[in-house]
Amino acid sequence: EFDTEVKVIVVGNGGVGKTSMIRRVARGLFTDNYRKTIGVDFLEKSMYIESLGEEVRLMLWDTAGQEEFDAVTRTYYRGAGACVYAFSTTDRDSFEAIRSWRAKVEAEAPGIAAVLVQNKVDLLDSSVVTPDEAEALAQELRLKFYRISVKDDVNVRPMFEYLVEAAVAK
Ligand code: GDP
Repeated sequence: EFDTEVKVIVVGNGGVGKTSMIRRVARGLFTDNYRKTIGVDFLEKSMYIESLGEEVRLMLWDTAGQEEFDAVTRTYYRGAGACVYAFSTTDRDSFEAIRSWRAKVEAEAPGIAAVLVQNKVDLLDSSVVTPDEAEALAQELRLKFYRISVKDDVNVRPMFEYLVEAAVAK
């Protein structure tokens, strides 16, 4: 039986929750005191996508701490079919960096299916990004926008389902 396979990359500054997100999707876990696993390139997860009526195999690639622009190698982007652009509710720089991440990804994987994600909405009380500016950025980049909390497991699954559908439709 044919298995659809999608390589998913998750990009954004260090600390926005990329590794936590991948682990949440792959295993349903959130671990607060998680230490980055050296040498693990990706996690695999099979996800049933309702609207497709089929299982899709996701290869979830973490930048593994190589967030500085030039440290992320071509191998990371090669063959990617879907991209999460992630910033954090409590990190202004991570929001400002999204345009650069987008340019970098588009240079390596033009036209890739993608979403804009604001993580850590459980910390909205200490937000440093207004809803208006986040939505304006999503419009400017023509990306669907999700507010999620990996910690509280809010909106993570719907965001991934949308992304995978968009990727498979391409
Ligand atoms: P990465 O550097 O982008 O891979 O980020 P990590 O996944 O290592 O997460 C950085 C920190 O943010 C860790 O302490 C996580 O536990 C924490 N974190 C991740 N997601 C959330 C979230 O939704 N809410 C809160 N409050 N903390 C989070």
